[in-house]
Amino acid sequence: SIRAPATKKTTTLTVAVKCRPLTEREHGRDIVRVHNDKEVLVLDPDLSKDYLDRIQNRTKERRYTFDYAFGPNSSNLDVYKRSIRSTIAGVVHGLNATVFAYGSTGSGKTYTMVGTQDDPGLMVLSLNTIFDLMEKDKSSDNFEVTCSYLEVYNEVIYDLLEKSSGHLELREDPEQGIIVAGLRSIRVNSADKILELLNLGNSRRKTDSTEVNETSSRSHAVLEISVTRKQQEKYPNQVIRGRLALVDLAGSERATETNSGGQKLRDGANINRSLLALANCINALGKQQKKGLAYVPYRNSKLTRILKDGLSGNSQTIMVATISPAGSQYHHTVNTLKYADRAK
Ligand code: ADP
Ligand code: MG
Repeated sequence: SIRAPATKKTTTLTVAVKCRPLTEREHGRDIVRVHNDKEVLVLDPDLSKDYLDRIQNRTKERRYTFDYAFGPNSSNLDVYKRSIRSTIAGVVHGLNATVFAYGSTGSGKTYTMVGTQDDPGLMVLSLNTIFDLMEKDKSSDNFEVTCSYLEVYNEVIYDLLEKSSGHLELREDPEQGIIVAGLRSIRVNSADKILELLNLGNSRRKTDSTEVNETSSRSHAVLEISVTRKQQEKYPNQVIRGRLALVDLAGSERATETNSGGQKLRDGANINRSLLALANCINALGKQQKKGLAYVPYRNSKLTRILKDGLSGNSQTIMVATISPAGSQYHHTVNTLKYADRAK
């Protein structure tokens, strides 16, 4: 039997905001100070009296509060240590969790989730923790880690671990719940191995070289890591399984009807159904956390059905809202901050 740890029943939602630095290109043609020489973005670690005095005259300023806020000098590791790491430890003990990056195209979602050699992202850092914890645990022989990596593109599911994946379908399994039929699940013994798979998978994402932005802005990539644990001494007949989903979402401009210039997107098909459905689920989870039970509409898209276990019951959901400090991204930034603020 699969045993879920008996603790609280509602899903915990944590919201972190991460502001990236200006890119080289933006440095050239963009400035941080716009709108009457006011900074577009101010990150304050605490609302000190001093701070409140300083902003007295900034009447147009809107303030948003989150569980965590990270500025342009923060690394992925900073974000990870403060807002993610403790949740990952829970996964090793049977918790389900979902970590996703939400933000407009170019705001730093992929950078945050995947990262670079010098600044490894949350996917990589999470895996390192899982393997570290397993190694430290004396019963590490009884752990099994498997992973799958899929893409949802135009409401079609593709296997990123297959060379040329066909369309995959969702199926309701009486024992396992909602599953992606035929999705490859690979047993891994080290974080390095998963990294290899991750890089391979990323190279298969639907990014057409002529239209990189256009396509990457529509694609969701979901890395799922499953940790199965047999506690032979304590519960000889039981297995504990924790699942972690790490999601690099499509650009959040796909969830709203207006783009950065305030114009309507040209046609309704540009609105990403999975993203909109996830946004609605997160809103519902936020309400649930504040006011008690609320219906969470998981059934409305492929992505939310795939993520259901990590967004419901005894799970932890962490949203990292990514934003740019650039004045040119002001509308996107406000949309993301408003959304992330409402989620809490
Ligand atoms: P998205 O996936 O949201 O569309 P990307 O992650 O591709 O955005 O980031 C857009 C650009 O900004 C890339 O060139 C990326 O390297 C850069 N970037 C994002 N975050 C950071 C960061 N924290 N430090 C340095 N560069 C960053
Ligand atoms: Mg991206």
